[in-house]
Amino acid sequence: MRITAIETLRLSRGITVHAGPVQWLWVRVHTDSGLIGLGETYPHPESEEAVVLSRLAPRLLGEDPRRIEGLWTSMFDAVAYSGWAGAELRAIGAVDMALWDLLGKSLGAPVYQLLGGATRSRIRTYNTCYDHISFLDEPERLAESLLEQGIRAMKIWPFDPIAKQTEGQWITPALIRQGIDPLRRIHTRFGDDMQVAMEFHGYWNLRCAIDIARACEEYQPMWLEEMLPQDNMDAYRELASSTSLPLTISERLMTTWQHRELLANRAARIVMPDISWCGGITEARKIANQAATHLLPVAPHNCGGPVLHAATMHLAAAIPNLYIAESVRRHYADEYLPVTGASPLPKDGFFDLPAGSGLGVDLLPEVMERPDLTRRRVEE
Ligand SMILES: [Mg+2]
Repeated sequence: MRITAIETLRLSRGITVHAGPVQWLWVRVHTDSGLIGLGETYPHPESEEAVVLSRLAPRLLGEDPRRIEGLWTSMFDAVAYSGWAGAELRAIGAVDMALWDLLGKSLGAPVYQLLGGATRSRIRTYNTCYDHISFLDEPERLAESLLEQGIRAMKIWPFDPIAKQTEGQWITPALIRQGIDPLRRIHTRFGDDMQVAMEFHGYWNLRCAIDIARACEEYQPMWLEEMLPQDNMDAYRELASSTSLPLTISERLMTTWQHRELLANRAARIVMPDISWCGGITEARKIANQAATHLLPVAPHNCGGPVLHAATMHLAAAIPNLYIAESVRRHYADEYLPVTGASPLPKDGFFDLPAGSGLGVDLLPEVMERPDLTRRRVEE
């Protein structure tokens, strides 16, 4: 089997998350067998598209797509001078995902089977609350609606608006009480029935993060995620030693090498790579293995489009050290429908193992007819 063309697809209509509108980029790897592999990344599709078509495609055309590890090394070599992160690595992640999809399709097997097979019969999930119900205004109603669907863990970021006011450089006891209020209300109403993860998006300095972390302890959140920017692991170590709560760090770390530093530092109690950002399924599996040697679990970051969502479920099915997999109800129940059709829903807070060969997800034919579609292709 040989790669004959690399194609990118993106829609100009995006979806909105905390940082504003984002759009997904899909990569299709075409072969002389007629099989097509599908991968995805985000959130800057024009930049990622340029890397895929101009820098990675020349390393891929004519190659056997089943040489996934060798092609990863070749792609990384093509962009490594630019650094370890950014659009270059996200582009590699999307292509790598497509290569695993292609390998699965060629063998008639789901990707999790190729990763060593399932280590569990179902995948525990929590909901990240980009929801139609606001966690700031109606935290109890949001928690109740998730519990009605059997989802018993949720993630919120009520300190983000306060960080916008203070640039994350100062905070007062009153503002801490304001930020904690949704956590307190959910904990008071539902107790252990609903676990709450607190997300901070790296907005705070160390001084404020310590104060906020200590104030959260009373309500026992599931974790504190990315309280600080990613640039100083020593500061994270100091934060970890200042609170009894577990820290999660986090989707903005890339590659096995950055995760090696994190794990050696021992600040994180839960590791959170994003498959489409850290370098693909190939790299995410290695990061999970690294974490396992430190007796740490993985909670894969999954806040993008439907192909990343599928890839996350395959990885989550296969790795032995899964803590819990992220998912977004608004995405799988709503945003994915126009592009990939109906998506499996969780039952009692768990997803079934993914079905179908490869990643088991494909773009609908209607997507190819959309007026807001940009489609580019490089051929042999
Ligand atoms: Mg995060």
